[in-house]
Amino acid sequence: MPAKTPTLDPPQRVLLGPGPSDVPARVLQALAAPTIGHLDPAYLAIMDETRQMLRDVFRTKNELTLAVSGTGSAGMESCVVNLIEPGDEMIVCVNGVFGTRMRDVAQRCGATVHSIEADWGTVITDQQVAEALQAHPKSKVLGIVHAETSTGAHQPLEAISRLVQDAGALLLVDAVTSLGGIEVRVDDWAIDAIYSGTQKCLSCPPGLAPVSFSPRAVAAMEARQTPVASWYLDMSMLRNYWSADRVYHHTAPINMTYALRESLAIVLEEGLEDRIARHQLNHQALRAGLEAMGLQWVPEHSLTTLNAVYVPDGVDDARVRSRLLREYGIEIGAGLGPFKGRAWRIGLMGHSSSQRNVTLLLAALETILSDEGIAIDGGAALSAAAEQRR
Ligand SMILES: *Cc1c(COP(=O)(O)O)cnc(C)c1O
Repeated sequence: MPAKTPTLDPPQRVLLGPGPSDVPARVLQALAAPTIGHLDPAYLAIMDETRQMLRDVFRTKNELTLAVSGTGSAGMESCVVNLIEPGDEMIVCVNGVFGTRMRDVAQRCGATVHSIEADWGTVITDQQVAEALQAHPKSKVLGIVHAETSTGAHQPLEAISRLVQDAGALLLVDAVTSLGGIEVRVDDWAIDAIYSGTQKCLSCPPGLAPVSFSPRAVAAMEARQTPVASWYLDMSMLRNYWSADRVYHHTAPINMTYALRESLAIVLEEGLEDRIARHQLNHQALRAGLEAMGLQWVPEHSLTTLNAVYVPDGVDDARVRSRLLREYGIEIGAGLGPFKGRAWRIGLMGHSSSQRNVTLLLAALETILSDEGIAIDGGAALSAAAEQRR
């Protein structure tokens, strides 16, 4: 008799890292609903419903709004590869890991890339964008990261959007760690192409990448002289698949669409304003608590969804993270690039952004840091956090 494979038994965690975030039971249950054919009328109705919910969450009327099969990175790649043809000029704003990746993707698509660089942890200024647009007036696209998960910096977009529009270029935004957590207004901010991921503030497992393209972006795609370099991510074909014509392209990940639909329903039931306010409040409470413990913030302009803080002097970064995981089941993230070993990245995204989790993390971290020999005023962190909720 062949040996029986042990039952799958992943541990229960509290996911407070840079993604994925905790997934509500309702979304996990949706994954277990019956798989049906991807051309079944019942599935087509679910796709349509999901597209409309995505428009609501993106705050857009863009017809071309859908979920790309793949994680957030597939969203990045699909935006760039559909807008860029070999020889096009593109400006990419680089102040962390994800800006660096966008530049890499643009170069692979054959773009001549002009980078705007800023120190990790800072944001790109309007002045830098104005200068770059002036220096490179033929630029077709300007790409920028709204929520730089590697540094915790929150990039303001409104003034930059006006500059890009005035220059006649297209604005491409990475909203992977912002959509569903902080304000994102695709139409009001005249964003031409935007991508996100399911696993961050939407609190759905990783696997789909919501994207949306403005009519101007669609016109740019239709005016292409060369075919899109990626067959799988070619929007001209994906559009037909997601349209009333339902031209077969690839088989959509059926059950992931169910999960995304449920997670979007949860977002819309809570209401975008209330959800953004919840992320704000939990961030403030965490911040007050960690600062009461003597920790310092990395970025000046911090996200509420991702909190990057310096590891206190004399503390072993990896040991603290592994104790949090082992003793409390809490996952937080390590620093990247220049912050490797020097910062922690604490996500409060979607379902993970709760009073319960903030309290748990502050108490756990206070206990561990005291053990590690850091002088901490016991209880000060929880009082400071509670003060924010009064
Ligand atoms: C996580 C993340 C991505 C990549 O998403 P994956 O789901 O890991 O592919 C892209 N951009 C930002 C800002 C992110 O935080």
